[in-house]
Amino acid sequence: MTEISTITLYQIDRNRKSVAFVNCPDSDEDIQKSCTASNTAMTYSFDEILNQLENFRDNFFEFENLLDGMTENISKGREDNDTVLNAVENFRTAHSDNLFAVYYSKILLKYYSQGRQKINTLLGTLRNATTGNHYTQQQKDSLTEILSEIRNAVNDEWNFDFNTKKDTHLIRRTSNLIIIRGENLNQVWNIADDSLLNFYLDFSYAVKRLGVSVLRCPYCNKHYLGTETSSCCEKSECKSACAKSKRHAYENQTYVHERKAFKGYIRTKRNFLKNAVHGDSETMQKFNGKADSFYAPVDELLVEYMDENKPIDKNFTDLYQQQEKKLLAFMHQLIADWKEKHNI
Ligand SMILES: [Zn+2]
Repeated sequence: MTEISTITLYQIDRNRKSVAFVNCPDSDEDIQKSCTASNTAMTYSFDEILNQLENFRDNFFEFENLLDGMTENISKGREDNDTVLNAVENFRTAHSDNLFAVYYSKILLKYYSQGRQKINTLLGTLRNATTGNHYTQQQKDSLTEILSEIRNAVNDEWNFDFNTKKDTHLIRRTSNLIIIRGENLNQVWNIADDSLLNFYLDFSYAVKRLGVSVLRCPYCNKHYLGTETSSCCEKSECKSACAKSKRHAYENQTYVHERKAFKGYIRTKRNFLKNAVHGDSETMQKFNGKADSFYAPVDELLVEYMDENKPIDKNFTDLYQQQEKKLLAFMHQLIADWKEKHNI
């Protein structure tokens, strides 16, 4: 049984605040095909990455137990592998919606079964206990190293402290890039390392460059990356809840005075027009159909002022008066049209 090895690539897009992951067979042909196809990548928003990471790290004790079981099993020898492999499978199934749980489970299964396969092959062909044991020690060492790399990458708070003010570290990492370039094509992908440390460091850098920090959304109660002026995360249900509560605040704000004043102005002009055209229904319909559109730009600006908690200023009153004048001109035009039609 030959195992097809796979490769995981990632691409961080700061503008879209998203990360694309591609997992495919590890051959140039497959990589090119998968990276350039439009629907192969799994894309996650920065907030999703943040939440999945938090979720994974919250359950890290479960994962650490697995690592402990594996380390113990490796040190004992090659007995009882199935128990550990089953435990990894169970962990993966239980957390199948978590990118990190799935990724690490795959890595563990890969190395663990590769190691076992090699040991068994060697033992089977050479039937030499000394060589077998020697090779087992190598396998033991490399597996133990991978396990501890993963453990350290996930455990080190420094990797996830995006706005760290703590002591400065210098980390030297080799970065593996895949570049795909052709007509209308220029892509750079990073190869994910086993421990994902490169990814964590790249992600942290992207977060820092965006100038965002970890905040808690008051609507879904989850962490998200936002700026000082953000009021909620980017989930559509939270955004609409936020807009609703702002609307509510809007109704109770001083801004409501401006709104009422304009609506009052429309009412006054409507009454004036009604008298002037003797309640002509066609004229009144025209007025009613368009009157609110003069208020719309005023309302739009009001909402903007309200969002930024900005007091009413000249910029606002200029627009307000300009829209009043437009409404007034419209009303006079309707009166003139009506007079012309009736030869008055
Ligand atoms: Zn939210």
